[in-house]
Amino acid sequence: MINRRHTLLLFLVGEILISSGTFGLERTQSQSEPLQQQKVIAFTIDDLPLNGPRTDLERLRVMTSKTLDSIQRNKIPTVGFVNESLLYVPNETDARIALLRQWAKAGVELGNHTFAHVGFKDTPLAQYQDDFVRGDAVTQSIMKESGSKPRYFRHPFLQMGPTLEQEKRFESFISERGYKIAPITIGNMDWMVLSAYLKARAMNDTATMTRVSEDYLKLTEEEIDYGEKVAKELFGRPVKHIMLLHANELNADNFDALVKVFTDKGYRFISLEEALTDPIYQYPDKYLPTSDWLGLWSFSKDKKFDSPVVPEYIRKAWEEDQKPKPASPSTELTAEQDHKLMMQQLGISSLRPGANPNNPNSSNAANYDEAKANPYPNLPDPLTLKNGKKVKDAQTWWKKRRPEIVEDFDREIYGRVPLNTPKVTWKVVSTSREKNGDFAVVVKKLVGQVDNSSYPDIKVDIDLTLATPEQATGPVPVMIEFGFVFPPGFRLPAGFQPPPGPTWQQQLLAKGWGYASLIPTSFQADNGAGLTKGIIGLCNKGQPRKPDDWGSLRAWAWGASRALDYLETDKSVDAKQVGIEGLSRYGKAALVTMAYDQRFAIGFIGSSGAGGAKLFRRNFGELVENLAGSGEYHWMAGNFLKYAGPLTWNDLPVDAHELIALCAPRPTFISYGASSGPGAEGQWVDQRGSFMAAVAAGPVFRLLGKKDLGTAEFPQIETALITGELAFRQHKGGHTTGPNWPTFLEFAGRYIKSVPTPVLSSAQ
Ligand SMILES: [Zn+2]
Repeated sequence: MINRRHTLLLFLVGEILISSGTFGLERTQSQSEPLQQQKVIAFTIDDLPLNGPRTDLERLRVMTSKTLDSIQRNKIPTVGFVNESLLYVPNETDARIALLRQWAKAGVELGNHTFAHVGFKDTPLAQYQDDFVRGDAVTQSIMKESGSKPRYFRHPFLQMGPTLEQEKRFESFISERGYKIAPITIGNMDWMVLSAYLKARAMNDTATMTRVSEDYLKLTEEEIDYGEKVAKELFGRPVKHIMLLHANELNADNFDALVKVFTDKGYRFISLEEALTDPIYQYPDKYLPTSDWLGLWSFSKDKKFDSPVVPEYIRKAWEEDQKPKPASPSTELTAEQDHKLMMQQLGISSLRPGANPNNPNSSNAANYDEAKANPYPNLPDPLTLKNGKKVKDAQTWWKKRRPEIVEDFDREIYGRVPLNTPKVTWKVVSTSREKNGDFAVVVKKLVGQVDNSSYPDIKVDIDLTLATPEQATGPVPVMIEFGFVFPPGFRLPAGFQPPPGPTWQQQLLAKGWGYASLIPTSFQADNGAGLTKGIIGLCNKGQPRKPDDWGSLRAWAWGASRALDYLETDKSVDAKQVGIEGLSRYGKAALVTMAYDQRFAIGFIGSSGAGGAKLFRRNFGELVENLAGSGEYHWMAGNFLKYAGPLTWNDLPVDAHELIALCAPRPTFISYGASSGPGAEGQWVDQRGSFMAAVAAGPVFRLLGKKDLGTAEFPQIETALITGELAFRQHKGGHTTGPNWPTFLEFAGRYIKSVPTPVLSSAQ
C-alpha cells in the first residue's frame, strides 16, 4: 500500500535534500521521435498476493483468477510486487505460494516489495536491506522455474531512503543482486477506495458497490488527466507512465473497466522495462524521498499542482478503518504448528531426526562412543577474522572479531533481540525480614512490568526475588539464579536433591553475598506454543517469529539483563559484582546471558549441554537435531533449524567455544555432574564436548591477558580446574549445580570481594 498524499505532505514540510547533476529533459525529449507523442503506460500491481485486510483462501483464489483473466485477455505487460510475509498464514502457506505461481504462469513478472512491507523512512539501512534479501526467497524459486530472475524492486509506501545518500547506498546494494528500483507516475488511491468497497460488500450492498466502482473509475480518469497535465507542465511532452495498482478485490472486480479507461483515452500498454527508458526516471536536482516521480520532479522544480480529490464518503470509510481497533488476538498455534510454519518460512520440507536417548537399538540412538564423536574436528577459529586475517591484539578482538561472532550467534543460533524492546518498570511488591539458616535476610519480592502499550493483549511481568543480608554494612555482591517453578507437590527426583549441609543461598550469605531468583517462564514460556506470547510475542504483536527473531534462551537472557538493571538501582546491591547461575536449559540461558551482557561479573554454568557449552559439531548425546525439533526449537532462532537439514553441523558459522569466548575475560565456571555411577546425570549433556569447547575458548582468554583451563586433557571427576579465569569441574552428583557451589565460591573469591555476614546469635 502507498499513501500518495504523503508525498504532498513531505512536499509541504519541505524535507529538502540536494542531489548533484542537472540535465535538460524538456529540450532533449521534446524533439524526440513522434513515438514519444503516443500515450503509453506500464502496469504494476503491489502487495501480492493480497493488498488490504486478510480474506479467506477461496475469495483470494477468485480475486487472483479474475485479475489474471483480465490481464491476459487484454494482453497487458504487468509486473507484480510481492510481500512474501503475506505467504505465511498457518495452514495456507502452500496454497498462497501456489497462487503466486499462478501470477507468474499468467505472464506477470514478479518483483520484490520487501518481505514484511516495511517503510525505509523508519528502518535502519541494514535492516531494510535484510528485509529486501528475505523478500524474494519464494519469488526467486518460482521465477527460476521459467528460467528467469526478479529484477525490479518497489519501495513499500513508495518511501525511498530518507536521504539521497541512503537511497543510493540501497540502490547499489540491490543492483549487486540484479535489481533496480521501479518508480511510478500515476496511482489512483485504490488502496483507500478499497475500504468503502469492502464495507459495502460485507453488507451485500450491491448498489453501494456499484457507486464505489463508478466513483473509482472516475477518480482513475482524473488521476490520468492529472498525470498528463503535470508531465506536460514539467517536461513539455507526454512521458512513459508507470501505473500503480494493488492486488485487491476492488481491482479484481473492475479490472476490465479499468483497462477501458486507459484505452478510451488512447493509451497503449508497454512493459515496465520500456517505460524505464524514459529519461524522467533519473534523479532531479532536489531530492524528495518518494518513488512518485512526478511528485519528485514537481518538488525539484518548485511547482505545485492540485491533485484529484477522493470523494468524501470514500475517504471517511478509509479513515474509519485507520482508527485504532481492539488489537487482533495473538495467533494461537501449537508448538508443532509454529515449528512447521518456521520450516515453511525457511523453505525446509524435512529435518533429520534427533538422537534417541531411550532406545540404544533404534537407528538414531544417541551415540556414546568417543571414537565416533568428532566427525568435524576442525572448529571455526575464534581468532581469525572473516577476511582471513588473524586477531593478534585485544583491540582487534573487541572492535572487529567479537562483533562478527555476536552477529553470527544473533542471526543463526539464538536470534536477535528486537531493536526497541519495551521498557520495564520495576516495582517492589513486598519487603520482609526473614531468617535463612543462621542469617537474617531482607527479602524483596519484585515485579518488572513490561510496557505493553504497543499490544495490550499481551501482558508480561518479570518475577524476581532478591535476598540480601540484613546486617550488611554496605552494598553486597549478588548471584542471580534462573529459578525453576515446580508444581505444588512436585518432588525432586534423585540426583536433583541438594547435598546435605548449608544450601547454596546459605553458602553465599556466609560469604556476605545476597542471592536472587529470576523466574524465566514468567516472561517467556518454555515451549513453542508460547512464542506468540510472552516478551517475544509482545514484540511481534502476537504474530509468529521471523527466522532471525530471538528464541527463549535469548529472551531469558534479556530478562536477566533487566533484573540487573533493577539491581543497579538497589542500594543494598553492589551491581558491579553480580553473577548469573543456571542449570540445564537455564545453564544454557546463563551462558547466553554472560556472553551477551558484559555487566555480569561472573558466570556459573550448570550442566548446559547442547545449545550451551557443548560443541554443536559433536556426535555425542544430545544433538543439533534435537534442538531443532518441535520440543526444543523455541530455545533457538528459527534459522538454527537449517542446520538439522538441509545444512550440516559443519556449516554452522560459530560453535559453542565461541559463545564461551564471548564471556572472556570475565571469570566463567563450567559445571557438570558425573557421567556415570550412582546418582550420575549421565552422558546426554556431553561433559567432554563442553570441556573441549572450554579448551577451544582458551586462546581468547589468553589474548585478553587471562588464564584459561591450563590443560587440554579431560580431567578426572572432582578435579577442579580453577586456577584461571576459565574454570571447569565435574562433581560426583547428578543433574544439579549443588555439589559444585563450594568450589565455585572458592574460584569466585578471587574476583568478587565481600565482607562475611555475621551469624545470628541465639538470642535474636
Ligand atoms: Zn505496498
